[in-house]
Amino acid sequence: MATITSDINGRTQLVGLMGWPVEHSLSPAMHNAAFEALGLNWRYVPLPVEPGQVEMAVRGLAALGFRGANVTVPHKQAVMVALSTIGPSAQALGAANTLVIGRGADHAPTIAGFNTDARGFVEALRQGGFEPEDGGNAVVVGAGGAARAVVFGLLWSGSGEITVLNRTLERAQTLVTDLGRRPTDAARLHALPLTVKTLVESAHTAGLLVNATTVGMWPHVDGCIWPEGVPIPSHLTVFDLVYNPVETRLLHQARRSGGRAIDGLGMLVRQGALAFDMWTNLGLELEEIAARMRAVCERALKG
Ligand code: NAP
Repeated sequence: MATITSDINGRTQLVGLMGWPVEHSLSPAMHNAAFEALGLNWRYVPLPVEPGQVEMAVRGLAALGFRGANVTVPHKQAVMVALSTIGPSAQALGAANTLVIGRGADHAPTIAGFNTDARGFVEALRQGGFEPEDGGNAVVVGAGGAARAVVFGLLWSGSGEITVLNRTLERAQTLVTDLGRRPTDAARLHALPLTVKTLVESAHTAGLLVNATTVGMWPHVDGCIWPEGVPIPSHLTVFDLVYNPVETRLLHQARRSGGRAIDGLGMLVRQGALAFDMWTNLGLELEEIAARMRAVCERALKG
């Protein structure tokens, strides 16, 4: 039976998630739980937006008085043309996942776009006990939107050399070219095809291995980027961006080899907590919001 929420009223502030599709997202549950826990009269709603309709949808949100939105696949790049200001990480990545809608001096809407994925990743890495600036070289597997955010976060936080391995080499090369515009960054970035040999060899000389592919994600939970029967070096910190399941086969293998394993839920809730903070401007502890969001996500993923 549908629940009727009686306390939505004329002062309720709205935010939401624009994507296509959006029905399986954890974001509404985690944001609404945080609003409720803090007694805020805010609601977070799913906003399914068909490809090709993004610009109109963003203008519609501003006209309807929404305070902001998250943006997910496939709209993170397309939304950029609808923004009045763009934060540095969204600019560098060419993709925004968080919009903050305000009012200018003439009361006209302003739409600022940010990318909280890179910082969400770095915060999760640090909370997991890995300091990028002290951790040596990194290996990032994957070259999609998530891998871009990871590489940007690693560059920005002072990691050593970063090797990007991808099944489709050209995509890894494009990522390295796009994010290596400064000569000092270009010197730290390398692109290689993803093979057992390149993966195992680069992992042996790195401190961090990140899976930024979809391999291992539900329902293909037996998938793993690391070869069967080869132990994962125990000195490695392994970060899997996949968060469904939370404990992927890759993380299980890393723990079994005695290495440190960090799950993707930590990044998901921290990118969400950063957006929450931008909208509400309450200056709350990021880790406090993230912990509330994590508890809700864990329950939803178990259910
Ligand atoms: P995407 O743009 O579609 O990129 C997918 C990546 O996976 C590509 O590099 C692709 O390689 C690779 N890939 C797919 N199937 C593969 C296979 N069988 N073997 C080897 N490589 C394969 O996706 P995305 O948006 O970057 O997301 C990637 C993952 O990160 C997803 O699991 C997503 O849920 C997760 N993610 C997590 C968070 C978080 O907060 N934890 C945030 C964003 C994304 P090709 O280029 O060769 O196709």
